[in-house]
Amino acid sequence: MKIICIGRNYAEHAKELNNAVSATPVVFMKPKSSLLQGATFYYPEFTKDLHYECELVLKICKNGKHIKEKFAKNYYQQITVGIDFTARDLQLQQKEKGLPWEIAKAFDGSAIVGNFIPLPEQDKPIHFSLLKNGEQVQVGDSKDMLFSFDTLIAYVSQYFTLHTGDLLFTGTPAGVGPVAIGDQLQGLIADQPLFDIQIK
Ligand code: ZN
Repeated sequence: MKIICIGRNYAEHAKELNNAVSATPVVFMKPKSSLLQGATFYYPEFTKDLHYECELVLKICKNGKHIKEKFAKNYYQQITVGIDFTARDLQLQQKEKGLPWEIAKAFDGSAIVGNFIPLPEQDKPIHFSLLKNGEQVQVGDSKDMLFSFDTLIAYVSQYFTLHTGDLLFTGTPAGVGPVAIGDQLQGLIADQPLFDIQIK
């Protein structure tokens, strides 16, 4: 099982991190060991600037390679929200040096995945949000993605065979920010809570 992640898929978020919008999706991966087990996340010692990035996550339901965009819908049926936890200080150091950023994004517990729900009616925009200590800190809508679900599936499957159970994090909207020990994070699609985690 692998976790494929997309960066810079919302124009407003690219802007807030001073990143250019790319002509093709920005792709990186997290290993299986990055999946958070349980509802408690322990703040890692190697960072002083841990950020949440709330994202829509698709579950792949069929094996495939070189998937054409028009058939991409056959490869996912369920969706949830998740967090792509990012050690922003480490990521900035790595970016400055032009080095890979896995230590900043692929560490243990860095992938939060909510409960999956069936995809809403085809092509209906999906609204999602993140609450920190009960207050809304991030909102997003699938209609604001630069690359659609189907475009992403077609793109990544040129390089990586998709397997049933693989996850696709589809990028974060604007509003990323820090978390601290003691925080509670809840992710929702529309008004349905799908994860609830505690930072310790
Ligand atoms: Zn992200």
